[in-house]
Amino acid sequence: MSVKENLAEIEETIEKACGTCGRSKDDITVIAVTKYVSIARAEEAIEAGIEHLGENRKEGLLEKYEQIGDKAEWHFIGSLQSRKVKDIIEQVSMIHSLDRKSLAKEINKRATEPVPCFIQVNVSGEETKHGIAPDEVEDFVDMLESYEKVQVVGLMTMAPHTENEEQLRGIFRQLRAKRDIIRDKKMPHAPCEFLSMGMSNDFAVAIEEGATHVRIGSKLVGEDNG
Ligand SMILES: *Cc1c(COP(=O)(O)O)cnc(C)c1O
Repeated sequence: MSVKENLAEIEETIEKACGTCGRSKDDITVIAVTKYVSIARAEEAIEAGIEHLGENRKEGLLEKYEQIGDKAEWHFIGSLQSRKVKDIIEQVSMIHSLDRKSLAKEINKRATEPVPCFIQVNVSGEETKHGIAPDEVEDFVDMLESYEKVQVVGLMTMAPHTENEEQLRGIFRQLRAKRDIIRDKKMPHAPCEFLSMGMSNDFAVAIEEGATHVRIGSKLVGEDNG
């Protein structure tokens, strides 16, 4: 399938999900996750109308950035080692995986302008997943006030791999509830308006539960150089 065909299908699903919960599709940002695919396939996504690309490794991001540059906005969505921050900080528009103080400190040190960051939250509690425990998120966000180059724009989570829709909904709702609490504090360093949640298998449910940024890989660009 071409990216264009996949995107048409995804957009239809997004419109339907928005319809059921009274949201506008314009409030949803689709990030094409290109970590599995070639530069050519990423370029195909841009030609199909995609404006946001997501990568989870420094190497993959830089390799594609070299070719594609500012034709897309770049999102760093994977766990990020502090020593790699300096290599990607000028290229990315958003970091979705801020999950510890040492990383915030490094972002603060290396960035020349405030960097929009999502706090990654481990809502499901799975040991294999990165992220801050839900009941530690508020303290973490408060602490970030001292890092002036870190702007908390929202919360991010990865849901477990499951077909159980109610379980997924429960996880997305918890993230949204936490987002609401932080947003409503109206802290200048943490507007926290956004929710980065929803991937190929669960983005419709995520949108129904408030996602503003969906990160879609396999369903949109494929899994191996398609
Ligand atoms: C790979 C990845 C995605 C996309 O996964 P798909 O299931 O292929 O859509 C989204 N978010 C993160 C953090 C990822 O690592």
